[in-house]
Amino acid sequence: MTARGKKTVRDLRRGSRSTLLRRLYFDGPLSRQELGSITGLSGGSISNVTGELLADGLIEECGSVESDGGRPRILLRVAAGRAHLVGVDVGETQVRVALFDLARTELAASDRPLDDRGHDAGHVAELILAGLAEVLERTGTDPGTVLGVGVGVPGIVEQGVVGQGVVGRGAVARGTGPDLGGGAGAVVHGQTVGWDAVPLGRMLRAGTDLPLFVDNGAKTLGQAEMWFGAGRGARHAVVALFGSGVGACVIADGARFRGAASSAGEWGHTKVHVGGRRCRCGARGCLEAYVGAEALVARWGAAPPGGGEKAGLAALLAAAGAGDPAAVALLDEAAEYLGAAIADLVNLFNPERIVIGGWAGLLLGPRLLPGIRAAATEYALRFPREQTEIVLGTLGPAAVTVGAATLPLSDFLDSGGEFPRRAEADAVGTGAGATGAAAPAGLRA
Ligand SMILES: [Zn+2]
Repeated sequence: MTARGKKTVRDLRRGSRSTLLRRLYFDGPLSRQELGSITGLSGGSISNVTGELLADGLIEECGSVESDGGRPRILLRVAAGRAHLVGVDVGETQVRVALFDLARTELAASDRPLDDRGHDAGHVAELILAGLAEVLERTGTDPGTVLGVGVGVPGIVEQGVVGQGVVGRGAVARGTGPDLGGGAGAVVHGQTVGWDAVPLGRMLRAGTDLPLFVDNGAKTLGQAEMWFGAGRGARHAVVALFGSGVGACVIADGARFRGAASSAGEWGHTKVHVGGRRCRCGARGCLEAYVGAEALVARWGAAPPGGGEKAGLAALLAAAGAGDPAAVALLDEAAEYLGAAIADLVNLFNPERIVIGGWAGLLLGPRLLPGIRAAATEYALRFPREQTEIVLGTLGPAAVTVGAATLPLSDFLDSGGEFPRRAEADAVGTGAGATGAAAPAGLRA
């Protein structure tokens, strides 16, 4: 460990590697010359660091472009197959585990329905571990190439603290920051699914030695839309997750706004009606109790029985499309509630963009968007409203798993492409000594 504030040569090299990897990841392929002009690093540094990254197999050459009068310039990109990412979506009705390569191509996925035990935490942890084993085995993936398992959950996530689940990566205390690993220490407060301080990280650590990252599903969706979807390029944005429940991820000045204990952005539980409908959280009058998919289907009351929320919502949409007055009125009202609640976001955060995602957002968005925009204009202050565009998410239903997979990806890019060490035993947190001598397929026996 080095003295605070004193950068070693190693830190600087890590920083240069991280800068170039990020550029190539998000903007590649690029030539060395382009990397130099974008990053401001010297030609010598670019040459050294790209040489290292090539030798590590993290980047690869991919053709060349002509340059004015000079030699053709070789293009570089991140090597998609060099490492793998796992994203998990603990959804309302199922647990989805997906394995991606570095380019976010989904190589395998496992969908396991929640049975009548619902969100029983032990059962959910079992489903995650079973899905993880399945996708690794089906693809024959070497666990040593897996950068980590990102898990998106319904609830507020208290991140791990030092000494409580840090997967060692050498001298740097990884896992201590809010966005880093250390997911083995993650504790989830999921009031709407009955999770009261569930130590999900520890429960998963008992079954896998892979690095763990746990975060709220709306926040992982937000990160995915910001990095790869409709949020790209915005520095001030809100990504709204509209599903069975309602959540949001607030991005302020390019960073996710988390609050004191990561619970910021619980937009679904802002009040739209004092003394109104009872919400799943126990309070009255929450936005979610009016426009969450579960609430909409329950309020409509005409959904075909036994079809689940998705089928119910699709039936509501079809009925409205056919002119059923009750269905039309309910959806018009939902658009107004959402627009008014978005007006609150506009007034509070002055975002340049608001992205509506989540499976219900994808399903209802095209119909509701004009009404939402009109209501937002009606309810928001004029000046900030004029600066805000309201758009639909572009990532589709896999956005939560992609977003969960960005948690280990972000850590990997920050580290300059360092492969994580795997947890040694249940006594993780020493940050030392783990060597990857693990049970097969990254799972504990
Ligand atoms: Zn509520």
